[in-house]
Amino acid sequence: MSSTPVLQVRGLKKTFITPFRRLRVPALKKIDFQIYAGEITGFLGANGAGKTTTIKCLLELAFPDAGEITYFGQKGLSLESKARIGFLPERPYFYEHLTGLEFLQFYGQLSGRLRGSELRRRAEELLERVKLQHAGARPLRGYSKGMLQRIGIAQALIHKPDFVILDEPMTGLDPDGRFEVREIIREVAQQGTAVFFSSHLLPDAEQLCRRLVIVKKGEMVFEGGTHELLDQVQRGWVIHWRSVDRMSELKSQPVANLVDLQLQIDTIRKQGGQIEDVTRMRASLEEIFMKIGFEDSALLKSQQVQSHEVAR
Ligand code: ATP
Repeated sequence: MSSTPVLQVRGLKKTFITPFRRLRVPALKKIDFQIYAGEITGFLGANGAGKTTTIKCLLELAFPDAGEITYFGQKGLSLESKARIGFLPERPYFYEHLTGLEFLQFYGQLSGRLRGSELRRRAEELLERVKLQHAGARPLRGYSKGMLQRIGIAQALIHKPDFVILDEPMTGLDPDGRFEVREIIREVAQQGTAVFFSSHLLPDAEQLCRRLVIVKKGEMVFEGGTHELLDQVQRGWVIHWRSVDRMSELKSQPVANLVDLQLQIDTIRKQGGQIEDVTRMRASLEEIFMKIGFEDSALLKSQQVQSHEVAR
């Protein structure tokens, strides 16, 4: 895996001034993170935390007041870099008179990376991948919300981007659809593409993401490996064991820390017990997220740099 980040964001700041009353809305106070090839990075934060504003700044749909954005080792968003990036907006606009196939071909042409029969083949392949092959010849106006979301994802991938940004890709999908999208995201990353997606669906992020970037009120509260974050809240271990008689009932003994874990294992074995399993109890991302939301997130902040180093 290359160690040059696909995207590097440093010191991003953005304040909106509202029309009429000229109120200042500090949307981004200082955002720093990096994205690497072949990795899936989740971008998490409560409503209004600054996710969409960050994504808009990344794509030059909004302009930051300060900060530096580097793509593929080059400052700024050059035309060359644009052709290597795929994007699914939070609320995509669809040309409803186009069929699914025409829509994908239209966006594929815009990238300048594919044309002619190669583009058509790629569009058909993606229609199949997002389970819309039966609807490829139908105008988008007849698509359901879930179908539109899936064709939107196919649009973001049509030109085989090296980096894909998906703003809330699971929104509006039923459980089967979410499963499908997770599989597509995994597949795309396995092929070497960097995936950056924002989501409110924490179980999806926990399952998919090797790394996480978490923002709160325009500030970074965490950047690093998902496991580093989950490990920050210790829940202890549970020892599962049986007494010598193998037919006896399986017992569970919770322990809070590593020292107690060794002591309990020794005690059980001295008494002739047989250890069958030791399970580490991890906090879920949802639990940690609630902690970040309602408690002082200084703990996470203080470990941010360290966990970033560990994660790489
Ligand atoms: P959500 O999860 O609800 O989509 P978000 O994390 O994407 O939220 P943003 O849409 O980036 O959050 O908004 C961050 C802050 O900036 C919010 O306080 C929002 O009200 C404000 N904001 C965003 N766009 C504008 C704008 N054009 N003018 C004024 N304020 C804005």
